[in-house]
Amino acid sequence: MNKKEFETFREMLLEKRQSVLENIQQIEKNTLKKSPREASGDLSGYTYHMADMATDNYDTELSLNLASSEQRVLHEIDEALKRIEEGTYGDCLDCGKKISQQRLKAVPYTTYCITCQEKQEKKEKEKM
Ligand SMILES: [Zn+2]
Repeated sequence: MNKKEFETFREMLLEKRQSVLENIQQIEKNTLKKSPREASGDLSGYTYHMADMATDNYDTELSLNLASSEQRVLHEIDEALKRIEEGTYGDCLDCGKKISQQRLKAVPYTTYCITCQEKQEKKEKEKM
């Protein structure tokens, strides 16, 4: 990969990084906004309140899962940016072969070539 191509991917990664950061902030804002629901002092509809709380917990959990998967992407983007600095960007972490540019354009922070990715996914499935 030449310097110009590295630069193109760096820009893509930085752009993606920005949008992931915004997503995380958005999720955090939504989660925080929902939480302080207590202290309404409404004891009349106890069962209703319980059900309501359960939904809230579910939503919070869902948001947190979403936030943590975004955090993971953020981490992967940072790692990819580091590899651009080191000049190893685009090499598969497993077999060391070049990852196709087509694949990098689709997922610029990917660390495996398509073959190794499939191998990993298969391994994951076998574990389950
Ligand atoms: Zn590979």
